[in-house]
Amino acid sequence: MKAARFIGAKKIAIETVPDPIPNRGEVLLKVDYCGLCGSERPQYEEGYHQHQGHEIVATVIDGGPGVQVEPGRKAAIYLTRFCSKCDMCSTGLSTACTEHVSKENIGWAWPGGFAEYVVAPEQNLMYLDPELSPEMGVLLLDTLGTPFHGLRRADAKSAQRAYVGGCGAVGLGTICVLKSLGVPKVYAVDRGGLRLEEAEALGAIPIDMTETDPVKYVQAQGGVDLAVEAAGVPASLTNCLSVVNFGGRVLALGEQPDSFKLTVDLSTRLKDFAVHRTWYFPISEFEENQRLAVEGFFRGADRLISSVYTLDDMQQAADAFYSGKAVKVLVTPNPVPTRPTL
Ligand SMILES: [Zn+2]
Ligand SMILES: [Zn+2]
Repeated sequence: MKAARFIGAKKIAIETVPDPIPNRGEVLLKVDYCGLCGSERPQYEEGYHQHQGHEIVATVIDGGPGVQVEPGRKAAIYLTRFCSKCDMCSTGLSTACTEHVSKENIGWAWPGGFAEYVVAPEQNLMYLDPELSPEMGVLLLDTLGTPFHGLRRADAKSAQRAYVGGCGAVGLGTICVLKSLGVPKVYAVDRGGLRLEEAEALGAIPIDMTETDPVKYVQAQGGVDLAVEAAGVPASLTNCLSVVNFGGRVLALGEQPDSFKLTVDLSTRLKDFAVHRTWYFPISEFEENQRLAVEGFFRGADRLISSVYTLDDMQQAADAFYSGKAVKVLVTPNPVPTRPTL
């Protein structure tokens, strides 16, 4: 089959690799859409030993030994392998599976969705409601599913004023969820350009950090009760600690390669606040998120997908995405005849 691999120096090679074969407990699927993720930027720059892609919606082809599946059904694929038996899995917390703990993610340790076909454990299939578009299925993974999990933990529903540092796909997904939950005031911080325009279109108050100091500005407006770090930059986390008010919550969503440090000075030391750190989402939350999506809960979510490229054009897709000229970019390795609206 055809697959697209990051080979380093921001280059992508279209390669022919053996068709994947499902083992016991696994399913073979044909990839409909796979989203590019900010977490793959280091591999875009430095290369990777196999094809990646973990924001996958695909169509069931066949089950491996012992697996009965219904060919033709569409499913979003859960990122991380999990055992479903350990203490964490049995309470629904698949992201914290003590057997696998994210070491065996699809698109990382296992080949991903930048290919015509993918294999996934049967229990990683999150079947899509026929009323949900496959593109929305992709958004329910990292773009909306990841922030929604953290925002549930941080009780975002009760927030009146929120701050979002970083308007990449996860930051914009955070804004979409916050506005959909009815949070009246959401400040969005980035470096101007498309991402900030999209934040404003989603209902946030844009702050261009190249022109305005976001901390001074938000403090002058009275601070916030919820501050979300979505840039994966240490200085952005420090800003969140500065803008959050007494009794508020900070949510650290951004992924950063360096160790996670909280810099507490006199201004932060003298207030009570909670810090939440979450990553991805437990598989048990997908059903509820999907139900909400079918009901039209996620306001403006269609703005989050900038463009769809074929696998052959993945170089252009990655260049557009990693240069910040696009919000979410999807690759469709098996082009679908018509693109349904969200
Ligand atoms: Zn991701
Ligand atoms: Zn487990």
